[in-house]
Amino acid sequence: MVIFGLKPYNTLRALVALQCSRCHQHTPHRLWRKVNKFALFFIPLFVVSRSYTVECGSCAQVRKVSRDDAQGLRDQARAQDDVAAQKRAQVTGYRVISSEPGDPQNLH
Ligand SMILES: [Zn+2]
Repeated sequence: MVIFGLKPYNTLRALVALQCSRCHQHTPHRLWRKVNKFALFFIPLFVVSRSYTVECGSCAQVRKVSRDDAQGLRDQARAQDDVAAQKRAQVTGYRVISSEPGDPQNLH
């Protein structure tokens, strides 16, 4: 008797701030990669399919994105991380030199 099947793997690839198309909130979205691997006797052997989804952090809406779009979102997440790192670099001691009181993100 041969036991075989597909084994799914979900991996969180990035957290990127986007505006949701459903709830219109500007929140972090999770970029997930789902990989299905062919498994024989419960041992994963090779990748059968690969897909990417983006999940809203506010309303949990999930939508599929292409591989190119996923790469673009990862680049965008890296750029947002760079901006966050620059903002952290502006903090001296425990006092923030630069603050943006008009920025609605400070309310969260
Ligand atoms: Zn949403």
